[in-house]
Amino acid sequence: MVTAQAPAWTAGVPPASDGAIDAASPAVQAVRALLANVPDPEIPAVSVIDLGIVRDVSALRVLITPTYTGCPATLAIEQAIRAALDGGGFADVAIETTLSPPWSTDWISDRGREKLRAYGIAPPPKGAAAASLKNQAPAECPRCGSSETEEISRFGSTPCKALWRCTACAEPFDRFKCH
Ligand SMILES: [Zn+2]
Repeated sequence: MVTAQAPAWTAGVPPASDGAIDAASPAVQAVRALLANVPDPEIPAVSVIDLGIVRDVSALRVLITPTYTGCPATLAIEQAIRAALDGGGFADVAIETTLSPPWSTDWISDRGREKLRAYGIAPPPKGAAAASLKNQAPAECPRCGSSETEEISRFGSTPCKALWRCTACAEPFDRFKCH
C-alpha cells in the first residue's frame, strides 16, 4: 500500500550519495514547491499535493492520478499543473498520468482533510474507500461535527461530491465521494 508510508521527501531520507539526480535534488524540490501551490480547480482551498493527485516527481516528469475518471476537473488539473511548471521554468518536465492504482480518498493528506473541513466539505475518514464503497457511513458535519447527517442528493456542487445535510445544525454541505 502506497498510502501506509509517508512520502520519502517528508521522511527526512538523505539524498543518495552516488551523485545521481534523486528525490532530494533541488529541481525536484522546486517542482514540489510549485505543485504545492497548484489549487484543485474545483476546491481552490486544497492543492493537488493535498489531494494526493501527485504520485511522484522526478526531474523529468510529474506522475499524477486523476481523482475521478471522467471527472470534468481532470483536464483542468493537468492544465493547471502544466501552467505552474511552465511558469516556474520547468517546461521540459513532462506530465504523465497513471490510473493504476486508482486514486482513493485515502490519499488525501491530513493537511488536506483539515483544509476541506475548514472549507465546509466533509472529508471522508481514512479507510472509508475500502470499508464503505457506497458511502454508507454517515458523514460528519464539517460545521458542528455531528454525525446526525443524511444524504440529500448523490450529486453536490460537482459530480465528485454528494450533497448532505446535518440534522443537528440544519446545514447542508458537500461530501467528497469515497471511491
Ligand atoms: Zn452540523
